[in-house]
Amino acid sequence: MKVKIEIDRDLCKKCGICAYVCPKKVYEFNEQEGPKIVNPDLCILCDMCIMMCPDMAIDIYADAKKERIKNEF
Ligand code: SF4
Ligand code: SF4
Repeated sequence: MKVKIEIDRDLCKKCGICAYVCPKKVYEFNEQEGPKIVNPDLCILCDMCIMMCPDMAIDIYADAKKERIKNEF
């Protein structure tokens, strides 16, 4: 699925939860750099990373429509 994933680096505290919970291995993670988006096309819009991120640092948009699907707090 074509999506656009954005991580707000000012909010992200590099906990690694997003990489841990993603069932499709969309992220790679190391403690120095934090999460890296490596396989965005594998994203199935399950929302797990968005729901589990303690800092609400992740936004995912369906690429075709640029539609914000979550994290509208
Ligand atoms: S929405 Fe689901 S599949 Fe997509 S990056 Fe987040 S956890 Fe992975
Ligand atoms: S879960 Fe959120 S705070 Fe933790 S590494 Fe991922 S984006 Fe950063």
